[in-house]
Amino acid sequence: MVSPCVLKSSGAGVQTLETEVLIIGGGVTGAGIMRDLALRGIQTLLVDKQDLCAGASGGNHGLLHSGGRYVSNDQHAAIECRIENEILKRLAPQCVEETGGLFVAVKGDDMAFADTFPGLCQTAGIQVEELSPAEALAVEPHLSKDLIKAYRVPDATIDPFRLALENVAHARAFNDSVYQPHTQIVGFITKNGLITEAVCRNNKTNATIHIRAKQFVNAGGAWAMNIAQLAGCTDVHLSYSKGTLLISHDRMADHVVNRLRPPADGDILVPGGTVSVLGTTSIRTEELDSVIPTVAEIDRNVIEGSAMIPALATARYIRAFSRVRPLLQGAGAGDDREATRGFALLNHTTQGLENFCTITGGKLTTFRQMAQKTSDLVATRMGNTTGCQTKTIPLPKDDACRWTEPGAAPRYWYKENNPEDMILCECEMVPQSAIDEIIKCAPDTDEEMTLEAIALRSRAGKGPCQGSFCGIRIASYLYDCGYYQDETGLIHMKDFFNERFKGMRTVIWGQQAAQMELAEALHCGLLGLDTLDND
Ligand SMILES: Cc1cc2nc3c(=O)[nH]c(=O)nc-3n(C[C@H](O)[C@H](O)[C@H](O)COP(=O)(O)OP(=O)(O)OC[C@H]3O[C@@H](n4cnc5c(N)ncnc54)[C@H](O)[C@@H]3O)c2cc1C
Repeated sequence: MVSPCVLKSSGAGVQTLETEVLIIGGGVTGAGIMRDLALRGIQTLLVDKQDLCAGASGGNHGLLHSGGRYVSNDQHAAIECRIENEILKRLAPQCVEETGGLFVAVKGDDMAFADTFPGLCQTAGIQVEELSPAEALAVEPHLSKDLIKAYRVPDATIDPFRLALENVAHARAFNDSVYQPHTQIVGFITKNGLITEAVCRNNKTNATIHIRAKQFVNAGGAWAMNIAQLAGCTDVHLSYSKGTLLISHDRMADHVVNRLRPPADGDILVPGGTVSVLGTTSIRTEELDSVIPTVAEIDRNVIEGSAMIPALATARYIRAFSRVRPLLQGAGAGDDREATRGFALLNHTTQGLENFCTITGGKLTTFRQMAQKTSDLVATRMGNTTGCQTKTIPLPKDDACRWTEPGAAPRYWYKENNPEDMILCECEMVPQSAIDEIIKCAPDTDEEMTLEAIALRSRAGKGPCQGSFCGIRIASYLYDCGYYQDETGLIHMKDFFNERFKGMRTVIWGQQAAQMELAEALHCGLLGLDTLDND
């Protein structure tokens, strides 16, 4: 019988939680470990200092790599991607769109490199098919007329939000594992070669929480080195690369389009439902928490991307964002693009700790395998002999997680055909029933969800107006329902708009500039949110 996660309060007002395994970091890796361990009968508590997908998992291309991108510089990573691509298409199809991918070379690109591509794919076991320029243009008409070479590979797209949400939902349903946002690890207490407690701060209330567990897993992505150091471990060596991406107003291509050259800036365009995601850059950084796109990065992506798809030069962009990749130090010291995209699992025994491990590096595409390897180590340490089941058991669809799917809302809405069910986000057609359902499935310890938390679990705010209207409508709806009683809704609105604006400031030109003028008039002129004091 699994012991549930227990909340105790000590006299000093400090809360103590107990669980079998504490997982630190609510990205796809932490979420995957939570589900893998649940399926082995091990109860976990997953914490994140913000919320699910706050790190790289919520700021990537959403490309389910076939492995093609890595064949020239990292065959090992290419093979890992190929294997996981096939598993995820089979076991989590609701999170995947099987778009297929094209690798394209244009006039001026290195033909010698282009000619080696099919052989390198075959070495990694990746299906590859050459298309003539005319055939490629027939399936992807926006491609440049300067196209000289094209290959088709089994790239696809994957929704990281739905993936993380459904992994967590399955673990919660399976054995009462618990997910707790806003909980930041700030230290560890160790005794006789074991961590006994993690010391945490609740970032909403500033309260201190102690978490006792048998095993502690650091799935902190780019923050993994800092978290390991809190436990005195100095064996995690990372460097950091900032990547910036742009979101176009329309879906500019139906396939994933990759430039057929060694990985470089602006060489991938990924369809993401109704939009496309263009990127990425790679710039060495030391900053992890407040990385924001620069105009130079935007320009670079647009210039490079438009060599493959000329319409990208004049497209309307609705948002840009940046995230940090943790690169395992050692490989490719000179060029971050050459550094391995593989992952590392450290058991920290040489650091004198027997119940702590760190998993970092890797890819969204390989998250399941990263979770499997980590869970194998944790289960062995706990004497649990149940094998990994995530490579055979499908990820169950969870209704409450379906709202991250672009275009999903109208289908459900019209099917249920309830005229009372008002549409609150008109860009992405999110109805009020979606908001009800998301709130009903709030994280275990979140008494009050913010608009940002709702947007993370739905398409609300993801369209051209970037939340300008739906932010107000959702907050009004929640006031009407009695969810908000005081100024909280206004504060949530202000925080939500501020967060959305961060992603818009580098793409405010043309039509998007007019959109932003309207947003400013609404938020500052009408609602006076700029004068709201919430510090
Ligand atoms: C620009 C960019 C584009 C990418 N594109 C792709 C792609 O198209 N396809 C692909 O396969 N991969 C892609 N990747 C890689 C992929 O996004 C990552 O490998 C993956 O998301 C990492 O997931 P993770 O869970 O390990 O880390 P993260 O998602 O970064 O999660 C770590 C979590 O730890 C939390 N945390 C940190 N410190 C603490 C603390 N002290 N206490 C509690 N919580 C803490 C953070 O809030 C964060 O949520 C891309 C990466 C970048 C940066």
